[in-house]
Amino acid sequence: MSHEFNAFTMAQRQFDAVAELLQLDDGIRDLLRVPQREYHFTIPIRMDDGSVKVFRGFRVQHNDARGPAKGGIRFHPQETVDTVRALATWMTWKCAVVDIPLGGGKGGVICDPHNLSPREQEALCRGWVRQVSKNIGPINDVPAPDVMTNPQHMVWILDEYEKLAGGHYPGMITGKPVEVGGSLGRTEATGYGVVYTVREALKRMNLSMGEIRASIQGFGNVAQYASKKLIELGATVVAVSCWDNDDQISYTYKKADGIDADFLLSITNRFGAIDKAKAEAAGYERLEANAWLDQDVHILIPAALENQITADNVERIHSNVRIVAEGANGPTTPEADEVLKKRGIFVIPDFLANAGGVTCSYFEQVQCNTNFFWPKDEVLKRLDQKMTTAFHAVADLSEETGEYMRDAAYMIAIQRVATACHLRGWA
Ligand code: NAD
Repeated sequence: MSHEFNAFTMAQRQFDAVAELLQLDDGIRDLLRVPQREYHFTIPIRMDDGSVKVFRGFRVQHNDARGPAKGGIRFHPQETVDTVRALATWMTWKCAVVDIPLGGGKGGVICDPHNLSPREQEALCRGWVRQVSKNIGPINDVPAPDVMTNPQHMVWILDEYEKLAGGHYPGMITGKPVEVGGSLGRTEATGYGVVYTVREALKRMNLSMGEIRASIQGFGNVAQYASKKLIELGATVVAVSCWDNDDQISYTYKKADGIDADFLLSITNRFGAIDKAKAEAAGYERLEANAWLDQDVHILIPAALENQITADNVERIHSNVRIVAEGANGPTTPEADEVLKKRGIFVIPDFLANAGGVTCSYFEQVQCNTNFFWPKDEVLKRLDQKMTTAFHAVADLSEETGEYMRDAAYMIAIQRVATACHLRGWA
């Protein structure tokens, strides 16, 4: 028997626990434990050397009771269908918790894009959509970028889909460049969304932004915009961290009186790595990888990778920390989560805290489907409204029932999907 971690088994266990709390009946449990539809297919590609290579592709639609499935396409050498199933399931809950009218989907291709030329990548994108074009689209299932896929890949997929469909359907995919139907504000959306939820949590604790200090893991897309927004709202960000490719280790960069996010951005490469010599010359202390975790701050934002707050390091969290806002997906292991729960730290769970990205993708889809594009401040205003409403619904339920924030968020999301299934007569 294999003891390897299986993400889908974990997603099903989480669901089973919440289904029990909600006392869902057996029919709805059977329906929501597994994806509604899965497509598995081969994609033959003529490689640059003239040979043909056959890649394996997937698209999984976990549930579309609340609207078209939504979720990214990953290019990854270790992709498995169970990972895609788990990610599709989590997308269903994420869209439901922020109350956008979309379901959950995910797709992937087993490949390593580092070993593929741009022409081969284009052929793979076009080949992927040819295999599922009948089953996805603006009213069925709307893909987006994910691990190792980017806006250019999305445009190739759109272009091939439109050739097959014989018309313009920019709402069939999101994460496109602004020049081809992308939304303004998408770059900022996830990091800003994290901070909107933090701002609302502070209000509930009667704390003001001006009096709080924060420490952040990572300095990529999410962490950069979370830092900028926190500082704009008056908070002090004392530390950020990043992976250093030269040294093959990550470092924390600290400035006790507050980092200058724009300065750090000016010395950060496109992979989110800060130039250590320039940072040190500007007076930043360079500390070890996990030093971001034991700063004397009120807020921690893990915004780099999964499995970062673990049983081995959770005790390092300073006694003044009040909030952990999970910018990254799955940054806290279940064992560490138990410790946060016992210590009474207020956790804003990943699928709520980082839902700004998918919310803005939904806005992109709406703008494309109506062929009318909003100014950036309107996108961000609507994003703020969505995140704020979603946060308080979860915090209210957590307060009323005494359930941990993560469990309350799952309860709201799963109940919304279950209700939609019931109303449709599915279970
Ligand atoms: P990114 O690639 O832009 O940045 C990742 C950052 O983490 C970089 O600064 C990198 O140096 C740093 N990093 C990598 N390994 C590290 C380590 N071991 N220790 C410390 N820092 C390390 O990625 P991103 O888009 O900012 O995404 C960050 C997390 O947020 C991921 O878990 C991602 O799945 C999640 N997320 C992102 C979005 C989005 O819209 N970008 C949406 C939802 C969730």
